Amino acid sequence: MPRYDFRCRTCGDTFEVSRPMAEASEPADCPAGHADTVKLLSTVAVGGTAAASAPAGGPGPGGGGGCCGGGCCGGCCG
Ligand SMILES: [Zn+2]
Repeated sequence: MPRYDFRCRTCGDTFEVSRPMAEASEPADCPAGHADTVKLLSTVAVGGTAAASAPAGGPGPGGGGGCCGGGCCGGCCG
């Protein structure tokens, strides 16, 4: 379940709320009981880690010798 960051405008505290994405835009109460909160941009779903882990160029076709990985050669590779 994704977590969303909220900030309380009454006491200035920030807190996380775990909730389904369908309820992402629902208001959340501050842990201290304040209702005047704002939702912060989440760093969970759209972070830099996913882009950083992806290869820049990626392996192209024709690389390596494991062409039979999917059984597409019908025995040409022994
Ligand atoms: Zn508060």
